[in-house]
Amino acid sequence: MILKAENLSKSFRNGERTLSVFNDVSMEINAGDLITIMGPSGAGKSTLLNILGTLDKPDSGSLNLAGQDVAGASQNEIAELRNTILGFIFQFHHLLPEFTALENVLIPNQIAGGEGNTSKGKELLDYIGLAERMDHFPSQLSGGERLRVAVVRALMNDPNLVLADEPTGNLDLGNANRLVDLFQKINSDFNQAFVITTHNPDVATIGNKKYYLENGTLSLSDSI
Ligand code: ADP
Repeated sequence: MILKAENLSKSFRNGERTLSVFNDVSMEINAGDLITIMGPSGAGKSTLLNILGTLDKPDSGSLNLAGQDVAGASQNEIAELRNTILGFIFQFHHLLPEFTALENVLIPNQIAGGEGNTSKGKELLDYIGLAERMDHFPSQLSGGERLRVAVVRALMNDPNLVLADEPTGNLDLGNANRLVDLFQKINSDFNQAFVITTHNPDVATIGNKKYYLENGTLSLSDSI
């Protein structure tokens, strides 16, 4: 088991008012899982993903990552856990504009204290079909290509789990389909676990476990 969340609840306080985002959310993620969380905008998908990724804290409930209870861990232990267990992909890729595609994907290695595994970076960029683009800067890449570079960057430290927040949200249909195909291929070629949030029913169909988040409740859905 990579991740176990039990009875997570989260609310935000805005002045006098409290907005309850979700209650009693539980889920278990194992190696090879391809999990989708679908829900309308504002349903709390990003908030949930941030909590699963230790970027935010729940009000109550427990989160266990690779056998370690996150609530009982120090800030340093949580950062270490996040860097070794998790990879992140955001809708707005967050590539650094002054670095090439190859340099961008080496950054997680460098943050982890290494020089950057150039041969692995090149191999993965080749795998996603960007062999000819590795020396291009983000501004010289299409939106779909930038997202694919962000996918490689998320994989560089061999995470047990990749969390992707609305990754196709900003792409046209062709690029969205290509990205979804890539997630499926990585999942089956490397047994890589993913959690992907989306408001798009077509994207949600790829999950081996499909969840639906609405009105504060997470449910498993077979009907998507
Ligand atoms: P989704 O990703 O499904 O679109 P979000 O998780 O971004 O939804 O947001 C869920 C709800 O929580 C929204 O109503 C949003 O306005 C609110 N929200 C998100 N982050 C904060 C915050 N930091 N402070 C207050 N409210 C927030």
